[in-house]
Amino acid sequence: MIKIENYINGQLVAPQMGNYLDNVEPATGRVYSLVPESTESDLELAIQAAEAAKENWANTSLEKRAEILCRLADLIDINADELAKAEAIDNGKAITFAKAVDIYRSSANIRFFAHAGTQFSSESHAMGNLAINYTLRDPIGIVGCISPWNFPLYLFTWKIAPALACGNVVIAKPSEVTPMTAYLFSKLCIEAGLPAGVLNILHGTGGSIGGPITTHPKIKAVSFTGGSATGAHITKATAGMFKKLSLELGGKNPTVVFADCDFDETVSEVVRAAFSNQGQICLCGSRIYIERPIYDKFKATFIEKVQQINIGDPLAASTQHGATVSEDHMNKILSYIELAQQEGGTILTGGKRRTLDGRCKDGFFIEPTVIEGLSNQCHTNQEEIFGPVCTIMPFDTEQEAIKLANGTQYGLASSVWTNDLKRAHRVAKQIEAGIVWINCWLLRDLRTPFGGVKSSGVGREGGLEAMRFFTEPKNVCVKY
Ligand code: NDP
Repeated sequence: MIKIENYINGQLVAPQMGNYLDNVEPATGRVYSLVPESTESDLELAIQAAEAAKENWANTSLEKRAEILCRLADLIDINADELAKAEAIDNGKAITFAKAVDIYRSSANIRFFAHAGTQFSSESHAMGNLAINYTLRDPIGIVGCISPWNFPLYLFTWKIAPALACGNVVIAKPSEVTPMTAYLFSKLCIEAGLPAGVLNILHGTGGSIGGPITTHPKIKAVSFTGGSATGAHITKATAGMFKKLSLELGGKNPTVVFADCDFDETVSEVVRAAFSNQGQICLCGSRIYIERPIYDKFKATFIEKVQQINIGDPLAASTQHGATVSEDHMNKILSYIELAQQEGGTILTGGKRRTLDGRCKDGFFIEPTVIEGLSNQCHTNQEEIFGPVCTIMPFDTEQEAIKLANGTQYGLASSVWTNDLKRAHRVAKQIEAGIVWINCWLLRDLRTPFGGVKSSGVGREGGLEAMRFFTEPKNVCVKY
């Protein structure tokens, strides 16, 4: 059985206390590897390594840093098949999806920020004939990056790449539910020649190592992606410590379909928005509002397409819909489906665990589920389910659609489907979300600000926003 190791000071090492957790393959329900349950003593070693590496990395030229990061991106591409397979086994996602989305974006993230580092500049503010101000943007020092299980390597690299490109040294924790690709990645870091101590990867639970990373006094900034409750916990735990925090949290995203949309394309994309990655994307559109004149037609076509989604072994190339990430998570999703029915909802399709034959007979598969007949205020429409479950609801006016879309505590993403240009702009302006997609979903330009409002987070990632987060600005004012 594979024993995953931490990556500290450029080496793969066992956890100090020698404790490991089981790592389960969601498609089979079987333990297939062991994950270190790191503790504060592992963190201290990582801090020492990071301290020792800090100055050299901060003073390494931009070009050299970019060269090493690009080598790392190339190694991801070279090993894309192995990494995609590892992600499919570890997470339960379909291998074709893992390769096209997760692994593709992981190398793209690193390459993007490697180049961004060489292009980043700071501001200057002239005060007439009196003085000139310029801004220095220095690395912060040791930063913490904590990522979730839904896009393991993709979100891991999305955080560490800008941190490293800006000259910081990093202590990172992937989710203990999906640690494998971060482990394989640590081997690639060694191969790419990343200097020892510049990146340290500690595996373990939120309690054993996530919490200690966020509260360690030497870690001056924390970039976190995960649930809103964990984000709130981190905010409280670090209160009074004056750390920089970037929190990318949960979502309950609206999809607003107007009657004048391009019907066929919209239905296909709304299916994709609801069920990609088994609905385990913070950006998935799980509340679907449809303008009443096309409601019945949309509903019929939507259900037909949802029923065509191919559920299967994540390792089969033809699979579109794999397993949910864990037994606990599967049970949580199933309990929400139960609750939806108690709240008066009707299951239009799906609604059950799916049992497959052969090696996946004990896997955590859930059918793509569509529910109708619920109010906007019920738990099903207010709480993040983070699985293959969506609701559909009719609306009559643009104002009503906006009110429904904004009617949750979340504000991460949204999509609007219409051919009326003026309305598209009008609605986009009024929707409370960090991202509004018009006639598309998950179209991502890495230069754009990424993040949420309300309970969906604080701060933005992406492009210059990430570079600003991972640097400390200092104003220098020079009198003429
Ligand atoms: P969690 O909040 O449970 O965990 C996220 C990470 O934080 C994991 O590595 C976790 O470790 C760790 N963690 C848990 N508790 C603590 C703590 N007290 N201190 C520090 N770290 C801790 O989220 P999930 O992994 O379940 O991911 C799903 C959530 O992530 C969903 O809510 C989803 O919406 C959100 N998400 C948001 C995105 C965004 O960009 N806004 C993108 C993707 C997901 P462990 O694995 O041990 O729990």
